[in-house]
Amino acid sequence: MPFKSLGLRAELHRAVSEKGYNAPTPIQRQAIPHILEGRDLMGGAQTGTGKTAGFTLPLLQRLMSSGKPEKGRRAIRALVLTPTRELAAQVAESVDIYGRYLPLRSTVVYGGVKINPQIQKLRNGVDILVATPGRLLDHVNQKTADLSKIELLVLDEADRMLDMGFIRDIRKVIALLPRKKQTLLFSATFPNEIKRLANELLNSPALVEVARHNPAAEGVTQRVHLVDNKRKRELLSFMIGSNNWKQVLVFTRTKHGANRLSKQLLTDGITATAIHGNKSQGARTRALADFKAGKVRVLVATDIAARGLDISQLPHVVNFELPHVAEDYVHRIGRTGRAGNEGEAMSLVCVDELKLLRDIERLIKRDIPRVVIEGFEPDPSIKAEPIHKGRGRQQTANRPAGKKGATARNKRQPSFKDHANNPGRPGRRARNRARHAR
Ligand code: AMP
Repeated sequence: MPFKSLGLRAELHRAVSEKGYNAPTPIQRQAIPHILEGRDLMGGAQTGTGKTAGFTLPLLQRLMSSGKPEKGRRAIRALVLTPTRELAAQVAESVDIYGRYLPLRSTVVYGGVKINPQIQKLRNGVDILVATPGRLLDHVNQKTADLSKIELLVLDEADRMLDMGFIRDIRKVIALLPRKKQTLLFSATFPNEIKRLANELLNSPALVEVARHNPAAEGVTQRVHLVDNKRKRELLSFMIGSNNWKQVLVFTRTKHGANRLSKQLLTDGITATAIHGNKSQGARTRALADFKAGKVRVLVATDIAARGLDISQLPHVVNFELPHVAEDYVHRIGRTGRAGNEGEAMSLVCVDELKLLRDIERLIKRDIPRVVIEGFEPDPSIKAEPIHKGRGRQQTANRPAGKKGATARNKRQPSFKDHANNPGRPGRRARNRARHAR
């Protein structure tokens, strides 16, 4: 299906073909006609599906047909809310690119940078504002952003906004908007809180969903390397060095862990940089640019920092630590092996993480092959310590063996004995499958 059949204006076609897109992606094909009709929409799609153009193109067209932009001071007519600064910057860039042949103005506001240049841009008047919720409210409080003329609201990555605790801010923003407007909500997952928000916000929405990107089925080789926690860094440096990897995205669970690991890699002679929410906007942009340009070999990221970033088709993704939420594993490994490219996703798993690994395998409905690397065999006598969510969890495995609670004494903790003795043996699920196949 060509772009032409979607009924977009010539200026938008021109911008899209200059980007080199030949045909709309499935989410674009499904969402654009509904949005052009003026319907509310609930979109199930994650980064990498083309969802940004899926809402930006029809948004631009709607603004063009809802009346000519006024000369001089313009009112903000479309608002796009995103969870992170990076995503806000990327969406704003897309708005610029797709709207380059239209007389519409846009700007972006997010925290972590000076507010005055943003105020200046808002004063000049914009039709479209892309924003993170906190900084937007700062502007509202300072009366530098007027949201009373909004015709179109987009909530991008709504589930992540909720995860990041923005629900109150979002509700405050929504309370400032006119009742009559078109609302588009995009989310990769639909937990109850999102459904509740959607029920309150959306008026007989069109529902569109694109099949979850399933890296397990798309040429991504997945492997688990069983290793003791304290030897993970050494193993990572060994893997990067011995395979001569040039571009590796490494995930850690915490900001602190990301910083520490990138410093340690540097001491091992491997160029690395960390990206997470505590870094200034400038530092995050630089880190990403250096990584994309091949100036640093390793980008160490937390899930939140990586979410929404346009970094894909990487040859190697390493989970230095497994995520607490199994779905994040799918997001992480989705960074590799896209669009027919081969990719490798490796997870360094210590005994404390075997439960998380089981959760992931249940979610992706397959066992990930275990490979023990010679010289890094885990110590079978080490017993698992529960991993606590929240502060300091990265230290659990190093905790000195002191007085243990009743649970630790009585319950059988998972150990590497079951796994490490026979690393090549397929897991229970695979064995069952094989039995059925026979
Ligand atoms: P998104 O999911 O919006 O972050 O988009 C993911 C990537 O797909 C971006 O790099 C876009 O430039 C690209 N993209 C969006 N639409 C198309 C299309 N119709 N054809 C090819 N690539 C696209």
